[in-house]
Amino acid sequence: CGVFGVTGVTDAANFVALGLHALQHRGQEAGGIVSHDPEQGFNSARRFGYVRDNFTKQSLMDTLPGPLAIGHVRYSTAGSKGNTQIRDVQPFFGEFSMGGAAIAHNGNIVNADALRRELIGAGSIFQSSSDSECIIHLMARSLQRKIPERMQDALRRVEGAFSVVAMTRTKLIGVRDPLGVRPLVLGKIGDEGWVLSSETCALDIIGAEVVREVEPGEMVVIENGEVTSHRPFAPQKPRFCIFEHVYFSRPDSILGGRSVYETRRQIGVELAREAPVEADLVCPVPDSGTPAAIGYSQESGIPYAMGIIRNQYMGRTFIEPTEQIRNMGVRLKLNVNRALIRGKRVILVDDSVVRGTTTVKIREMLMDAGAAEVHFRIASPPTAWPCFYGVDTPDREKLLAAQMSPDEMAGYLKVDSLQFITLDGLYRAVGEANGRNPEQPQYCDACFSGDYPVAPSDRIEKGFRT
Ligand code: SF4
Ligand code: MG
Repeated sequence: CGVFGVTGVTDAANFVALGLHALQHRGQEAGGIVSHDPEQGFNSARRFGYVRDNFTKQSLMDTLPGPLAIGHVRYSTAGSKGNTQIRDVQPFFGEFSMGGAAIAHNGNIVNADALRRELIGAGSIFQSSSDSECIIHLMARSLQRKIPERMQDALRRVEGAFSVVAMTRTKLIGVRDPLGVRPLVLGKIGDEGWVLSSETCALDIIGAEVVREVEPGEMVVIENGEVTSHRPFAPQKPRFCIFEHVYFSRPDSILGGRSVYETRRQIGVELAREAPVEADLVCPVPDSGTPAAIGYSQESGIPYAMGIIRNQYMGRTFIEPTEQIRNMGVRLKLNVNRALIRGKRVILVDDSVVRGTTTVKIREMLMDAGAAEVHFRIASPPTAWPCFYGVDTPDREKLLAAQMSPDEMAGYLKVDSLQFITLDGLYRAVGEANGRNPEQPQYCDACFSGDYPVAPSDRIEKGFRT
């Protein structure tokens, strides 16, 4: 998901709409905005579909007045997967004795089932199937007198990944979980305006300046143009999601001071060193494989070419939640550049192999087009474990890499070769010269290593074994 908030500007909701549009890659199912105006109080709108199809209409934006607003773009990882109801669309809102508050959450709460049972037992009335709604109910039960303190109480009971953007009548609040699994950045706009965003690319679109990242375990509270910083959690060594660098974030964003594009290009360089092969062309699987393919080509000296053309009017395949749509999706989205491919030995670079759907379809399309050889090079290690922290990987049974070795995968996918970057190669590409520290990994890499930095307690209760 993507979260965004702004304060200290006129018509904050318009800025939020633009910010969410720039974060659309983080969630395409639905979006929502809550605004506050001193005269008109809180207002909200939640809609299915793209930001640009909803939050551009003057008639809708006029219902969201005020200098303070937050928003959310949704991609279902918890709750009603593939079956989002409008009641699951964030931001969530609560009325407390001291006033209202709205929250937008990116990440995934791993003890949400247990919390929900406890809260329902104590009388809470849930409105949605979302894990994030727990935060509002935990806030309602807190005895603290101020909303930020209530949020701290609530978030101390929550396990897992959370980057939260919240608002009261006067405050804009940002919080990251102690491991800092998901991104969150603080920006400045104009003389008095402040912005919180999942990624820096959404600051660029509104002309805001990056100030710094909200730190892992930090809560920032912005009121009257002033930012105060709080540390509600016991400090831990951060474990940022390494997959944000590989796939999830936009290449024009800066994560942890590093250009995402440059990291991806460097992954391609590492891949070319680790897994060379003789071929005529290096082609990206667009768009997610593009920077790594550029790096592979630069390092290997094999020409880069657009062997697959992407239809710009389709969204991200992976984010379509049902199997059927995903299966069609590959062909609706990608087509082979036949004139180029015929008779050529082709290296295809993609960011990941999850179920193998994309790889199978692309190999078929390339062979149909007369390719002489098809080699796959993958910009992440084999995805053998599900993510419980906000990226929607399927259960283990559906993960190809959980069922077979890379060599078996190559046979199953009928490609001439298939190689993945090593975990150490990936760490080098994100700037860790000595690779992964096995004693204390610098990132979360659980979907590749099975090393979960936070035990997924709801899943363990249902029989999941790490
Ligand atoms: Fe990111 Fe993978 Fe960790 Fe999920 S399991 S947070 S996708 S690195
Ligand atoms: Mg892709």
